Amino acid sequence: TVTRTQEIEESRMLLPVVSEEQRIMEVINHNPCVVLCGQTGSGKTTQVPQFLYEAGYGSLGTDNPGMIGITQPRRVAAVSMASRLKTEMGDAADRVGYQIRFDSACQPETAIKFMTDGVLLRELATDFLLTRYSVVIVDEAHERSINTDILIGILSRVLKVRAEMSQEEGSTTRPLKLIIMSATLRVSDFVENKTLFGVSPPVIKIDARQFPVTTHFAKRTSLKYVDDVYKKVCKIHNKLPPGGILVFLTGQGEIRQLCSKLKKSFCKTSSSEYTPKVRLSGREVTLEAEDVDFGNDIQDEENSEAEEFEESSSDEMLGCTSQPLHLLPLYSLLPTSEQLKVFQAPPTDHRLCVVATNVAETSITIPGIRYVVDSGKVKEKSYNRDTGVQSYDVKWISRASAEQRSGRAGRTGPGHCYRLYSSAVYERDFNEFTMAEINRAPIEGTVLQMKNMNIDQVVKFPFPTPPESRHLREAEELLSCLGALDSDGRITELGQSMAAFPLSPRFAKMLTIGGQHGCLPYVISIVAGLSVGSPFLEEFSLAEPLDVEDEKQVLTNEQLCKKEQRKRRRKEFFVAQQQFMKLDPMSDVLKLLSVICAFIYSQDKQEFCEKFFLRPKAMEEIDKLRKQLTEIVLSNSPVALGRNGTYEKKPSLPKSVQIKAIRQIVAAGFSDQAAVRADLVPSESIKEFAKGFKKGIIYVVVARSGQLETCLENCLAIVHSSSVINCKTTRQAVPDYIIYQELVRSSGGSDRVYIKPLTPIS
Ligand code: ADP
Ligand code: MG
Repeated sequence: TVTRTQEIEESRMLLPVVSEEQRIMEVINHNPCVVLCGQTGSGKTTQVPQFLYEAGYGSLGTDNPGMIGITQPRRVAAVSMASRLKTEMGDAADRVGYQIRFDSACQPETAIKFMTDGVLLRELATDFLLTRYSVVIVDEAHERSINTDILIGILSRVLKVRAEMSQEEGSTTRPLKLIIMSATLRVSDFVENKTLFGVSPPVIKIDARQFPVTTHFAKRTSLKYVDDVYKKVCKIHNKLPPGGILVFLTGQGEIRQLCSKLKKSFCKTSSSEYTPKVRLSGREVTLEAEDVDFGNDIQDEENSEAEEFEESSSDEMLGCTSQPLHLLPLYSLLPTSEQLKVFQAPPTDHRLCVVATNVAETSITIPGIRYVVDSGKVKEKSYNRDTGVQSYDVKWISRASAEQRSGRAGRTGPGHCYRLYSSAVYERDFNEFTMAEINRAPIEGTVLQMKNMNIDQVVKFPFPTPPESRHLREAEELLSCLGALDSDGRITELGQSMAAFPLSPRFAKMLTIGGQHGCLPYVISIVAGLSVGSPFLEEFSLAEPLDVEDEKQVLTNEQLCKKEQRKRRRKEFFVAQQQFMKLDPMSDVLKLLSVICAFIYSQDKQEFCEKFFLRPKAMEEIDKLRKQLTEIVLSNSPVALGRNGTYEKKPSLPKSVQIKAIRQIVAAGFSDQAAVRADLVPSESIKEFAKGFKKGIIYVVVARSGQLETCLENCLAIVHSSSVINCKTTRQAVPDYIIYQELVRSSGGSDRVYIKPLTPIS
């Protein structure tokens, strides 16, 4: 048993989960797998491990030796929950430990171990039976991160094997227990999935008291939500009765910006502010979306100060109360001791104000919150399905998340939630739920990650929501083609390096091999460019066609004028295109690279885009993604990038040896997408078929196997009008072989296939 302090015992008694201890333990004892649903703050994370511990799990010499493992999707939660448990467990405090990547506080006597789901996945790779554990709790399963889904899939199999082994005669193996915990009732993907669990696991629902929360939508949805949050917090603090404030923002940058503004207004005594100088290293920590702050979405400090001045002069109310604000940030890169402050009672007469990422949505319950200010935003890894690129973007949360966030105001009494978005935006732009990450992410990347965890049979893998097996097989084929898998479908050394990049395998491969001849900055730019999509305006979009019905019709002066104008624009357009074709007149990839390099150095970005017929939005996005990728590559392989440790963030134009290398690097990433010029193929049927095409340069697509496609309709493709190959001058030869980015079927009735080339191969 555990001896706890009086205070702890009292606070435990108030938790809904504690009053259900008997029922919960009974179900757990009688079932290999149990699903536990209970609202945030009902005591799941802090109490269930203690029930298990007191029931004898985790102790040597009992029926269930082996640790109690609890996984969390976020590092902050793993560490702070372990710390809370230490406090609660009084004399048994030293039986609680935690492990996050490269930071472990576990000892031989650790009986309850908190960890990130990534840590347990890595342990599974070396100890598939999890022999050191008697029970595993997968917490926050409702978040449906890829790691959680894969973890549950693997654990469902471990349960089976451990159960079978325990039946063998003379066996010392004990069965493993699995507890899946969720803050919502959406658990059918786990419970009703027969591939996952042959027998549906029982679901325990914990009813929690929840005080009413009044929700206030904003009249208008502002774009500068950090400023609006500031105003809202000021108003609450100045006018409303006591009670803690919880603010939801998306990341460290915004949180620090808001805190510094609030501090100036309300925190007269300057407490030491923690300014992190952490350099995130992909080797040392698993990247969480909220960690990724590349400075591009944070206003610089000076600007925000100027704005603050304007605001406070226009709104007299701001910052006038004499009550001090106990201001605390909460995000993953904050040192643990700072994170834990949110649980301590604020100094007397202070109002608590926690400014947090969405870790405070369901993972961490902060006591004493009465007001929630919800920006409605979250930083999320987003995936471009077509290109496979992942970037980190600030997005609207789901309605389910918005409900969770409001709920945080009603834990200790009736509360208020201020949403900084209008109800119209909520109705129109918010999804009902956040889709499971595995169904949003490009499948090739997930398969590569799974192979990297030594899961060889991905097609048979018991996913909670399985992707189509055809897609899984295609992904494996592509990975083999790229050299990430060997002939047995196991990951290769190259594949392991590729898996370090949170990118589609094609781009991961380009970046992995991109170090030669100092090409990496160029490869990064190209990857960014290919992901965002072409920034070039197309010729046909230049001007409205003239309304001339008949060629011979006599044109009015106005029409003549327009015609002249159009002619001029077209000429300017072609001159502009030529500008970027100097590096390599036959390579679309190098044209793209030239324009990105030129954009970086251009002074007036808008003027630059106008002058060269570019889509400004696409150019900006490419530039933003380029910076993100640079940071990710730097954190993965600082050495690969550095020439004498210095890295050129602004690439100048590549030299000719580099141009050659770039062509090869790009070809390596798309090696399964090659095409040969039609007239080089000695096939009568192709020649016959090609006659049907009146104009355009024609290529024959080579299938992944290296054979020509058998179906003629699918293999003959006309070079897309946007390609530089169409702009060749009479002296230039059309390349024999090309690597292409994609094939597009014309939407009209003609059923033609167009090929979008990347680069010639020679
Ligand atoms: P759940 O996992 O169901 O969301 P938790 O077990 O995390 O619930 O939280 C139960 C209670 O414990 C909450 O009221 C929360 O405020 C409190 N709590 C959690 N951590 C701490 C801490 N470090 N200090 C004080 N209270 C805490
Ligand atoms: Mg919890």
